[in-house]
Amino acid sequence: MIGSQPKKIKGEEDSTRELVENRTNGVPESRIKNILVYWKEKITELFKDKMDLVIDSPVPIYAVDTLGNSVGVYDGSSVKIIKSLGLEKDIAEVVAHEYAHNWQFINNNMHGNLLSNDLPYGGKIFIEGFALWVAFRVMDFYGLHENMSNVVLR
Ligand SMILES: [Zn+2]
Repeated sequence: MIGSQPKKIKGEEDSTRELVENRTNGVPESRIKNILVYWKEKITELFKDKMDLVIDSPVPIYAVDTLGNSVGVYDGSSVKIIKSLGLEKDIAEVVAHEYAHNWQFINNNMHGNLLSNDLPYGGKIFIEGFALWVAFRVMDFYGLHENMSNVVLR
């Protein structure tokens, strides 16, 4: 055989058609809860299998109407994502970001010294930088960062 198919991810075949539709038209409100639970499970599995970020009991996830000026939050006991994000890839990215925070704040994975007020931005530069990096890795793994392929490096 010349060449080979890209390795399929567990459950990928089932979701590809819906994902393409949801990336184009946005997730219908009636499906948001299922989409959140789907990505929570998929992403926390990926954390464990590919990134050694084990969350024994990921917090529950909820869709909410508003979160002030934020699109997602990890509050220590749950993850909340606003319903109006629309596109499924944007939802997946926020889910990955917030569960990265979930991992950071269990079992002292985020060392207390990184949260010092003596550090730039009171240590938030490490907290948020890590979550952004994890979300980027997840999006890259699933091929959901299509805009990145348009970036030309000189
Ligand atoms: Zn964050």
